[in-house]
Order: sequence, then C-alpha cells, then structure tokens
Amino acid sequence: MSSIVSASVTLPTIHVPDNPVWPELSKEEELQLKNEIKSLLVKNNGVLVAHYYTAGVLQDLAEETGGCVADSLEMARFGTEHPASTLVVAGVKFMGETSKILNNEKRVLMPDLNATCSLDEGCPADMFSDYCDQHPEHTVVVYANTSAKVKARSDWVVTSGIALPIIEHLAKKGEKILWGPDKHLGRYVQQLTGADMIFWPGSCVVHEEFRSVALERLKKLHPDAAVLVHPESPEQVVQQADVVGSTTALIKAVQNMDRQEFIVATDAGIFNKMRQVAPGKTLIEAPTMGEGATCQSCARCPWMGMNSLQNLAEVLRTGQNEILVSPELAEKARVPIKRMLDFAAKMKKA
Ligand code: SF4
Repeated sequence: MSSIVSASVTLPTIHVPDNPVWPELSKEEELQLKNEIKSLLVKNNGVLVAHYYTAGVLQDLAEETGGCVADSLEMARFGTEHPASTLVVAGVKFMGETSKILNNEKRVLMPDLNATCSLDEGCPADMFSDYCDQHPEHTVVVYANTSAKVKARSDWVVTSGIALPIIEHLAKKGEKILWGPDKHLGRYVQQLTGADMIFWPGSCVVHEEFRSVALERLKKLHPDAAVLVHPESPEQVVQQADVVGSTTALIKAVQNMDRQEFIVATDAGIFNKMRQVAPGKTLIEAPTMGEGATCQSCARCPWMGMNSLQNLAEVLRTGQNEILVSPELAEKARVPIKRMLDFAAKMKKA
C-alpha cells in the first residue's frame, strides 16, 4: 500500500458564515408560502430538487410536489431525467452547477447563490490545475463538491456514494490517482482499495468537527447504538463507525439495521429522512467540537442553511439566482460527470 502524500499547498482562508436564522413562520404563513411555491413551480414548469442536508420543510415540499430529496449523485440524475424546463435546486452551488452542466438547455435556479461549500472554496481551479500539471501521469479524480472549472480539469467526478467502486476500478487498471479535494474521503478510499493516490488537502468544515473522544464517551452511554459516520469525517471518528457511507447509505442503515438506537455523524438535516423511513428509532447526534455554543457549525452546514421557504418563493417569483455555466465549460465538465453516471448505470445493471 502506498503512503499518503498530500499536496503542499496553502489553501485559501475560508470564511465560514454563521448559521442563518430565518424568521419563524406561523402555521398559516408556512402553508401560504408552500401553496404559493407549489403554484409557482407549475407556472414555471419547474421541479424542486433538494439535498438531505436542507431544512426538513424543503425536503418534504420537494417530495410533495413530485421533485426529489436525495444525495448529490441522485439529484444530478433526477434533474436529467425529469421533463421540467426549470430545475430549482435547494442545496449548495456546486449542485446547481452540476445540474446546469448536465442540462444546459434547462433553467437552473437556486434560493441563494452564496450557498457554497468549504470543499469547493478550498479548491480554487487555478491552484488545483497547477497541482494537476505537476503530476501529468496521474488520473485526476475529483469529488462532486467542486466548481465547474475543477470538474472540467478532471478525468472523473465522483460522489461519496460511488467513490469506492470507481477508485477500485481505476486501481485495478494500475492507474495512479490524483484525488481532490476532500482529504478524509480520499484517505478512507485509499485505505480500503490500496490505490496509489496523492491528495489535495481540503476538508468539510461540518464533518471535521466530529470528535472521537467525545464520541467514545457517548458510545459508552449508549452501548447498543450503531454508529453511522460519513467518510468526510476525521479518521479517528471513522474508525469508531459500524457503518461508513454516503448520506443514502446511512439512511438505508437506519432503515435496515436491526438496532433501535443510532449515533449519527453527518449533517443533522439527514434526520428528517431518517425519521421518515424509520419512525420509532432513536437518533442521536454525534458530538461536535465544543458540544455547545462554541462549535462553528454544530453539524449544521451554514451554506445548506441558506435555503428556506422564503428565498425559494422569491426566486420562483423573480427568476433571479439563475446558475449560468458557459456551454464550452459545461461541455468539458460534462465528460467526467457522465463517466461517473455511466459507471453508476453499469453498476446498477450488473
Ligand atoms: S456539509 Fe460540508 S461538504 Fe456538504 S456542503 Fe456543507 S461544507 Fe460542503
């Protein structure tokens, strides 16, 4: 097994915003807004696609209106297959960009264009491209949490749900891999596959806050609980997991495992779907740094939190916040994304 070598680059400073606080809506106001969004979706020939980390009310609305709530791989696939001419993406910017890249003829709107991601921000295209240039013999594999330009510089795009089989596939062919930007997911995949990999040293500010010592203490308090961990988390946290996997894999684990209690180390938005598929099971948040007021995100992605009923209604009213990707860039970025989608389709068939 090769040793883990990270790029020696100085990453840009990432400004992590505070978690947005939205004015509380009364039941009537919420219903009114939801009804308005429903009719605006029809008027705009639109469909709502939401990520598991967004507010529960948005996830539920996406499903109620014939859209979907999913991980980023499924969101991309759904947007491609759905006949709507407007895709409204409740999530973060790279998700909207991926939808636009795959559906250049469709209009893609997002509730807030400032909803970005620490992985995306920590991987500027010019710096990443220089790193790739220094390693021309490597196959470039990037996580979906990247800009359109970074995707365009890559050979493969992967999501956390499909990273493992794709790296396994490339390793079997003897390819050397340049991985970016999430170092934790990269390390996890490298350890399981033994692939020859070098890494961009990015990370997710939300998952990085999970703490192994506090988790160990929590496990002692709940000895029968299964520990579910997203692989963007630090190594010592991953090592304590009963299940490591993508959002979809963790949801399935709650649904299918013969356990009553689960300690969950990923964004707390996922609890909405977990409660829906496994009512009656007990879900416990894995501890984050500070276990209280001092943690930066407290397992709630501040950028995902920028999506609300209020700004969703506003973009549908005004048509603002359209995601634009030039056709030339989209064409380049589409190649590695399509490679992943085709690989996923073949896997499903097999
Ligand atoms: S949870 Fe982490 S990886 Fe996901 S959007 Fe937020 S910062 Fe990015």
